[in-house]
Amino acid sequence: MSAFAYVDGRYGPINDAAILVEDRGFQFADSIYEVVAFLNGRFLDFDKHLWRLRRGLAALFIEGVMEDAVLRAIAARLLRQSRYRDGILYVQISRGAARRNHGFPKASRPTVVLTVRSFDFRQRQQQLQAGVAAITLPDQRWARSDLKTTGLLAAVLAKEEATRGGAFEAMLVNGDGIVTEGASSNFHLVDGEGRLVTHPPSTAILAGVARDGLLQLARQAGIEVQERPFGIGEARAAAELLLTSTTAPLLPVVSLDGRPVGGGVPGPLAARLGRLVWQDVVRQTGWAA
Ligand code: PMP
Repeated sequence: MSAFAYVDGRYGPINDAAILVEDRGFQFADSIYEVVAFLNGRFLDFDKHLWRLRRGLAALFIEGVMEDAVLRAIAARLLRQSRYRDGILYVQISRGAARRNHGFPKASRPTVVLTVRSFDFRQRQQQLQAGVAAITLPDQRWARSDLKTTGLLAAVLAKEEATRGGAFEAMLVNGDGIVTEGASSNFHLVDGEGRLVTHPPSTAILAGVARDGLLQLARQAGIEVQERPFGIGEARAAAELLLTSTTAPLLPVVSLDGRPVGGGVPGPLAARLGRLVWQDVVRQTGWAA
């Protein structure tokens, strides 16, 4: 079985799941989503993801979504049904189906879709040892990248270009030469003084849950954190480059546009922070590779 889905009250294999063609998620990307990791059958940082989901729904004026406790119960049932131990939960909520018209429909009920699929997080631990490559690309997304909407075309095209270039991720650079974030991750650099530098939360980036966890762990460990924009030149000259996301909790970026970053191998802060991040995963879930 490839994956399991819940769609508006029905549970089953993902290939049997369907939404209406007039769903506004399909027609307009009029929808918010979340991605939550589970390891050892336990969700990681579920509270933070639900908080961000609610913030996004409020920003889009999508109302009438069931309570968090119900979403949690659906997620738990899907997980039991799937029998997956390690994987990824997607929650996608659209404004619902209605006759096609840009303006909000007078009456519509949100469409709620949850899916679970298995994912082997051990590959991320291997990548933590080896490092990954990134390429730089212009940030062509809309001006509300803080909202996790399913309008992901610019990110999809950037990721495809990275993949074709043999890279793991695209580092997005805005018109002022500032590194905003990755196509599906947040970027951070380590400067010559060993400080961790990362773009501050703003409408230009998604404030990642993994980013938040990383900064908290770094501060607890006495590592100085600077939340400020950094440019592409600073990124190229950085001692280390790191990326974070729910599906890649911490990865060192050892090559940028084919040129080595730092020594071209994962640096000491990547190793140290990587240990802290995975210790936290184990603490939350009891996971064992
Ligand atoms: N930025 C973007 C554009 C993303 O798509 C993601 C992954 N969803 C992230 C950052 C990382 O966010 P998180 O740590 O919450 O997965």
